[in-house]
Order: sequence, then structure tokens, then C-alpha cells
Amino acid sequence: MEIINRRQRMSSVARKLRREQDQTIGLVPTMGALHEGHLSLVREARRMCDVVVVSVFVNPAQFGPGEDFERYPRDLTQDTTKLSDYNVEYIFAPSVEEIYPKGFSTYVTVEGLSNQLEGVARPGHFRGVATVLTILFNTVRPDFAFFGQKDAQQTMVVKRLVRDLALDTEIVVLPTVREESGLALSSRNAYLDGRERRAASVLYRALMYAREAHDDGERSARRLAEVVRTQVEVEPRAQLEYVSIADAETMERLDKLPDDRPTLIAIAVRIGRTRLIDNIVIQPARQKTRATVEA
Ligand code: AMP
Repeated sequence: MEIINRRQRMSSVARKLRREQDQTIGLVPTMGALHEGHLSLVREARRMCDVVVVSVFVNPAQFGPGEDFERYPRDLTQDTTKLSDYNVEYIFAPSVEEIYPKGFSTYVTVEGLSNQLEGVARPGHFRGVATVLTILFNTVRPDFAFFGQKDAQQTMVVKRLVRDLALDTEIVVLPTVREESGLALSSRNAYLDGRERRAASVLYRALMYAREAHDDGERSARRLAEVVRTQVEVEPRAQLEYVSIADAETMERLDKLPDDRPTLIAIAVRIGRTRLIDNIVIQPARQKTRATVEA
């Protein structure tokens, strides 16, 4: 395994792999502090590609003022140890100056999709995400790039980015990895103390209540949002920032859940000082019914 810090070295290594050795490259972009969620992406990249590159870069452009950029957990040594179990060939761990050298002034904005949910709560967040991913994709030119459903809106932004800018990378999205309590793994869980961590299972529980209500026939987005809100309010340490019920492909807000398209229920909740997000996708009732009948 080689740790590469320079953009130029990364692109020349990747170029050689592609051109001279005809290898397929998989990229797993991360901000480090790796956990099983990240490693599930690495495993799939390992399965699908000849060469795996994991990028570790805490991207200042996607943090807003007053957010946790400074205190975000960083431990490249431990990340390297974890990745060595998967025979990852390259870790790309550039410095901030390497990605944003003096005079940097070009940003990528995915319009529309970036102005909802996380984009409202964190203005400029997706501009930072789209910009760094464009740089990473142009540096590595991966055949495949791997993302987690945990960041549902990010997966949509990156798919749109790749499509609109004709980037030659296929986006692979993998399911959210959770603790037994239902809490989605996240590097930010490290901020939680024991009691907060237990409280944080309320995110998934609230989403499950909404799924149950949908299974019982509820189709009103407002009432499903109310189910989520009520559940989150049961937990005194939790404060709901938003619950969004939207079309899972377009992110358009819904009044009524359709029976022919998947719906995304996404939430952001503060547990003490820590802001956590989670989501589930509700499959259309019509498809579910058909699957049940077939089964
Ligand atoms: P991050 O380091 O938080 O920027 O995450 C890097 C990638 O790992 C993103 O594509 C995330 O969606 C993905 N990821 C983070 N947490 C999880 C999880 N619990 N399950 C699956 N993927 C995850």
C-alpha cells in the first residue's frame, strides 16, 4: 500500500494503471476516521475493481462557518491499518493546500438538488462536495466510485454531477451500515458520550415508525412527518432539525406518497452538540404488493 499526498503523483500513478496495465480503478472518497460503513464500500470496490484507491481528505469547502471542521476526527495511522486488511493499493491523502492551492477560485455547483435539505441546513455544503469530487475524479479518473446511502442527497448530487459534466465514472451506492441499536455508523458518532450514543438510536427508531405507519396504509407526508417528529420528541436529548419526505430520485417534496415510485424519508437530529443525519427509502406499495404476491 502506498500513501500518496501529491495530486500529480496520484494522477500519474492512475494514468499508468489505466493506460499501460489496463487496470480498472475504484475510488472510495472519504474524510477518514474510517468505520465499518466506509469499509463496506472498500470491500465492494475490492470486489469490482483491479485497483482500489481510498481518498482521505477532510474537505474544508464542505464545512460551513461554526461547523466541526477543526475538531473532525483525523487519524491516518489508524485508517491505514484498517485499509491494509483489504489490500488497498493506494491511499490518497492530500493536504488542504494540495487540493486548494493559493489562488484556487473554481467551484462546481449542482443546482436544484443542492438547495434542499442538507443544502438548506448547510449552505455551500454541496458546492464543496461537488468541487472536491470533481477534483478527485479528474485526478484519479476512476472507473467506479463508491458512496453510502447514509448520505442520500450526496449520492444524488454526485450522480447528477457525473451525468451533467460527462465524467467517465460509474457511481455505485451501497446500503447504510448500522449498529445493532439501529444507529447509522458515522465518524461523528465519536462526539457522542455514552448516554448520547444510546439516545442517538432514536433516529432510526423514528424512521422505522414512519415505515410501519406507511405499511399500515398512511400516505400523507405530513402525517408521516408527524410520526417521526413525535418519536424524536420522546427522546429528551434529541432535537429534530428537519424531517423531509421526498421523491427518492428527484428529491422533490411530496404531499402524498405515491404507490409507483420510491420515497426518501430523511432526517437531521441534534443530540447535544452533535448533528446526525439518517434516512430510509420506502419502496412503492404497488411493487411491494406484487413481490409479496409472487413470493
Ligand atoms: P465520510 O467519510 O463521512 O465523508 O463518508 C465517506 C463515504 O462513506 C460516503 O460515501 C458516506 O456515505 C459513506 N458512509 C458513511 N457512513 C456510512 C454508513 N454508516 N454506511 C454506509 N456508508 C457510509
